[in-house]
Amino acid sequence: MNAHAENLTIYNSLKGEKEKFTPVKEGFVGLYVCGPTVYSNVHLGNCRTFISFDMVYRYLVHLGFKVRYVRNITDVGHLVDDADQGEDKIAKKARLEQLEPMEIVQQYTLDFHQVMNQFNAIAPNIEPTATGHIIEQIELIKTILDNGFAYESNGSVYFDVEKYNETHPYGELSGRKIEDLISNTRELDGQSEKRAPLDFALWKNASAEHLMKWPSPWGIGFPGWHLECSAMSTKYLGDQFDIHGGGMDLKFPHHECEIAQGTASTGVAPVRYWMHGNMLTLNGQKMSKSTGNSILPDELFSGENEFMEKPFDPMVVRFFMMQAHYGSTLDFTSDALLAAEKGYMRLTEALSHLDKLNAGSESSQDVQALVDSFYAAMNDNFNAPILVANLFDAVKYVNSINDGKASITATDLELLQREMKAFTHDVLGLSPAVSGGDDKLAPVMDLVLELRQEARENKDWGTSDKIRDGLANAGITVKDSKEGTSWN
Ligand code: AMP
Ligand code: ZN
Repeated sequence: MNAHAENLTIYNSLKGEKEKFTPVKEGFVGLYVCGPTVYSNVHLGNCRTFISFDMVYRYLVHLGFKVRYVRNITDVGHLVDDADQGEDKIAKKARLEQLEPMEIVQQYTLDFHQVMNQFNAIAPNIEPTATGHIIEQIELIKTILDNGFAYESNGSVYFDVEKYNETHPYGELSGRKIEDLISNTRELDGQSEKRAPLDFALWKNASAEHLMKWPSPWGIGFPGWHLECSAMSTKYLGDQFDIHGGGMDLKFPHHECEIAQGTASTGVAPVRYWMHGNMLTLNGQKMSKSTGNSILPDELFSGENEFMEKPFDPMVVRFFMMQAHYGSTLDFTSDALLAAEKGYMRLTEALSHLDKLNAGSESSQDVQALVDSFYAAMNDNFNAPILVANLFDAVKYVNSINDGKASITATDLELLQREMKAFTHDVLGLSPAVSGGDDKLAPVMDLVLELRQEARENKDWGTSDKIRDGLANAGITVKDSKEGTSWN
């Protein structure tokens, strides 16, 4: 374990304050993040949340924790209204496209993985799907029913919120009061099988034409969205685990219901630290597919979108995101991305100088203090923007050593090299090259692109096209711009 692990603090949304992080089991961390509902391509807003938690995961690993990181795939049960009403989002897309729901799931899961790779996000240790855990979900519902916190109605099962609230406060995460919730909840059509409007579905009875359905003790149906995350998180991380993450918009009802379900089934709150990533906005509005106010990663990387003047490299976008705290909103603008591009170049340039610096007899700066400031930033609730600012203090120092205006001892140089690289590459997830993050692939790509360049200079279009198409088949896109050729 890294000695700095002792000082990690996390803003716990449940308590509304920063707390010292103490894991359930010393040295181990269970981390669950709500994954995407795979009915469409992930937009950059979705990506921000997943990249924020990738940074959290990376720092926990850097501190020496043994982390089990679980991020699910929601492939059934997420209804169009994000609650109990409307069609299943995936089934709806399948109907519109005349495809099998599992074709939709496959297509968008692959897209999601590809995008996460482009952003250099590490794959979770377990990526469970909701459809792969129907048995666990049925078992969980049985327990909640046995404990008296749910009831069956017309082949559906609902969670009894008012009954639960008699012994446990419902609304503690989102800061809502049950009286207000009750008075604000209207009775909608088709909800009459509920005893009270606030109750939410654990299992829903499926009509004959419903596409995704399974047998259960209550008849043929499908699980509720909130229940899926409860079943999958506790199966792999235990009845009470360390950290649960997701976007701020999932606090209510999704995470509130997860707390209720977990507590109703085991008697203990399922999660110790709730973390919520804030929203990416575009033109000041939440980026969202349904309102059309969104950009897809591909549109950004290719430059084919109405919002940005030019394409941006995934690492520049990741750097841009790291310049804001995960808990603050972040507005996506062309100017901010252009500034991030410059900043990122300065950082990578300094890192390349770092390897070539010569050591001297003394250090003109306190390198240990500089390195400690990296840890202090991240220990303060994963404050990546402060880390970036502190890395830039190091960049200034590196540049002045490089210019012969400052000096550094051999021991300090080794420390600075190790920690600057660790925090940039391993913690912030900014890979060494501007494009592509694979150390072994980079020199091979340099060679391939050189051959392509030669072919183009010789007007050997056959060969240059063959190289481009071959790379495309391998999932590598090559882009030519004023700054040169890049790939990802
Ligand atoms: P979904 O696929 O709709 O379940 O969303 C996947 C994740 O993206 C959730 O954690 C959401 O909170 C998150 N999310 C959705 N829109 C945004 C946004 N504009 N900014 C940041 N995160 C978002
Ligand atoms: Zn979830």
